[in-house]
Amino acid sequence: MKDANFLKEHNARSLWHPMAHPGDSLANPPTIVTGAAGVRITDVDGHEVVDAVGGLWNVNLGFSCQPVKDAIAAQLEVLPYYSTFRGTSNDQVIQLAEELRDFFAPDGLSRAFFTSGGSDSVETALRLVRQYHKLRGAPGRVKYLSLKKGYHGTHFGGASVNGNANFRTAYEPLLPGCHHIPAPYTYRNPFNETDPERLAQLCLAALEDEIAFQGASTIAAFIMEPILGAGGVIPPHESFMPGVAEICARHGILLIADEVITAFGRTGSWTGSRHWDVQPDMMCTAKAITNGYFPFGAVMISERLVDTFEKDTTGQAAIGHGYTYSGHPVGAAAALACLAETRRLDVPTNAAARGTQLHAGLEALQARYDLIGDLRGGHGLMSALELVSDRNTKAPIDKQTIKTIQEVTYQAGTMVRVSGPNIILSPPLVLTAADVDQILSSLDAGLAAVS
Ligand code: PMP
Repeated sequence: MKDANFLKEHNARSLWHPMAHPGDSLANPPTIVTGAAGVRITDVDGHEVVDAVGGLWNVNLGFSCQPVKDAIAAQLEVLPYYSTFRGTSNDQVIQLAEELRDFFAPDGLSRAFFTSGGSDSVETALRLVRQYHKLRGAPGRVKYLSLKKGYHGTHFGGASVNGNANFRTAYEPLLPGCHHIPAPYTYRNPFNETDPERLAQLCLAALEDEIAFQGASTIAAFIMEPILGAGGVIPPHESFMPGVAEICARHGILLIADEVITAFGRTGSWTGSRHWDVQPDMMCTAKAITNGYFPFGAVMISERLVDTFEKDTTGQAAIGHGYTYSGHPVGAAAALACLAETRRLDVPTNAAARGTQLHAGLEALQARYDLIGDLRGGHGLMSALELVSDRNTKAPIDKQTIKTIQEVTYQAGTMVRVSGPNIILSPPLVLTAADVDQILSSLDAGLAAVS
């Protein structure tokens, strides 16, 4: 292994990182990760820390999940690649589609379309809903609605429904016909409403208003995360997603649940939609479907849409969309092993229990540190601390202070993610009570350093 300085210098000279300034890599070199085991990563400087980021919300089963590694290795020997474009299929992908169909049966989702990741899943759903409406004789239904603060990946479709200016402005103009409504974000919202239930009602009223303004017959779909993730972990009131589903159904608008983060146990339930007792028309998944070990995703399609596509006799239901890696046999083998492990270990139950422990610990930190303006989470293992320099004015914390907190937290034994004024926690779902204690004590050290 080359030494740390060599690697950091060559990193800055030779590659650009996603979501980072390309000119910043030398002044702020990345952590060079050299290995990982269990819920911990090691770096080139010799640190070993709990990864409270969980890869990127995807390594739900930790870094040592042997059955998934074995499934990948075995599949590479048997069939390392073949496409699933019209004309070919493979047994792994067929088995996975059946397992997913049975698994998602309570949600009414009975067909899978495979992708290479979350952005691809979102793009797939955005395209298929337009095709669905055309097949149903409503070609004017082309617009999309979504939530401000929502995150739906990086393709032009996903970026167009994203609700965060940071991911939009530099790339405009985006897709026309995408409209955003306020998120149920109690800490900051245009209504100055702090009660979650009343805020949910106000956001639902804003949705009704936007539908009336645009005209329901022009809208194809509403896309939302059951709990907003990258936008800063924003769990809505329990009435919100069922309310969205009811409004969409009443207006013939399809509901796409973007569960790229929330599917497979993150919320303490098997999916975010189940958590809120909602049956979406489509569900986008990726990330934890292979525990992050292989780029893969699946869009699940509701029984309600199936006949429209499958019984079409005009030819217009042919899907003119797909990826070279749609249904990759190695990804499918990894996903099958993940599903089995997630079930065997009853991962959502551990996520719920450890999530409760983590949330209680974070509440205790909030009581001690004024700079924690808002604490969000409490549904499984996704939490955010929104940091402020003044609790009364809610002025956001400055970049240097939050960076110092992140660095000291790391030195004290835990990797956390910083996104704007938020510290985001999304650890592997298999962590223990002692691991949660380590996250909390590291954060305590980080916060103490600047307080
Ligand atoms: N949707 C959501 C809700 C996500 O959180 C993400 C990634 N964080 C994406 C889509 C995009 O996924 P990917 O990065 O795998 O393309």
